[in-house]
Amino acid sequence: MILKQLKLTNFRNYSNLSLDFDQRSTILLGNNAVGKSNLLEAIYFLSTSKSSRTALELELIKKGETFATVEGQIEDDSHFSLQLQINMQLLGEYRKKVSVNRLSRRVVDYLGNFPAVMFSPVDINMVIGAPSLRRWHLDLSLAQVDAHYKKALTLYEQYLVNRNRVLKRIREGLSRADELTFWTGELIKQGEIISSARAAFLESLNSFQALGNFRFAYQQSLITQERLREYSTREIAVASTLIGPHRDDFTVEMGERNLAHFGSRGEQRMATLAFKLATLEYMSLTLGKRPILLLDDVFSELDASHRAAVVEIVSRQQTIMATVELENIPQEFLDSARILKIEDGVIKGL
Ligand code: ATP
Ligand code: MG
Repeated sequence: MILKQLKLTNFRNYSNLSLDFDQRSTILLGNNAVGKSNLLEAIYFLSTSKSSRTALELELIKKGETFATVEGQIEDDSHFSLQLQINMQLLGEYRKKVSVNRLSRRVVDYLGNFPAVMFSPVDINMVIGAPSLRRWHLDLSLAQVDAHYKKALTLYEQYLVNRNRVLKRIREGLSRADELTFWTGELIKQGEIISSARAAFLESLNSFQALGNFRFAYQQSLITQERLREYSTREIAVASTLIGPHRDDFTVEMGERNLAHFGSRGEQRMATLAFKLATLEYMSLTLGKRPILLLDDVFSELDASHRAAVVEIVSRQQTIMATVELENIPQEFLDSARILKIEDGVIKGL
């Protein structure tokens, strides 16, 4: 898939931007704080309707403005064209609207139109941070390519809220224990779809070893009737479902080492990049076409052999990369890419 055109209005530090892309990869070159990461974030937002770095989406709206728009023209190999638009409004409360080929859609249905994989240095938190971050990366990777997974996840989250509500009512003496039966059954059913997809995904990442022998080991929080029985007293006491995919995790390992605790900064960063590049291969295989790859400052801490491995992958699909200098970028990639210079929210050198 190719991003042909991107238009931004009031997105981060961009007032108005209209930018054409072509088949080639693009290097976004510029000093610190000119808006390179913001541009990558805008493309990721167009792809997922989610920010790659903040949970507070209203921060995406340019300071002092009350709305922002991100628009894109996507083309498939068969020249099938897709027009995507996301509008954000801040009129008292924050609101988001999405449209596909100029028709409004529900935000929950939006994901999957324009698959993308993004790597940025802050993603290292995936290795060292909380389990919820790792689940976020799992879910966004899988939900972009697997509609069945996306649906199971949405249902699971709804059923979880309902089951917890019943647990609370039981604790307060307002409901009977058998009122859990329905929600428990549904949670187990959707939970199985989620865990088997997560297990298969992580297994597939492990078979892809372009950057070293990293292992992503699934730590499943298995949810079954038997296990739930063991937890039932505690669940009622805390009014919360204590096991299931919402408690899943995975560890990032190299040899016998868990890299969250025993990894060097470079290893953690490399493992994150390996996860992203393997995700790209998984998504490509599942979809039968290659997602766009967004790389923020990827070459700066890589040694020459790892750089060569990255260059090889980068040339397989449209890649958009941000950098402060060209020195670290292998010549082979420089020769094949288009370089755009950014100065303070304005693109020069087109
Ligand atoms: P670096 O090389 O340091 O990574 P960058 O080019 O990637 O820099 P960005 O992260 O894209 O820089 O940020 C560019 C500028 O955008 C920052 O100075 C930031 O303050 C500004 N900015 C972020 N959000 C908003 C917003 N909502 N409104 C206006 N400006 C914003
Ligand atoms: Mg940046």
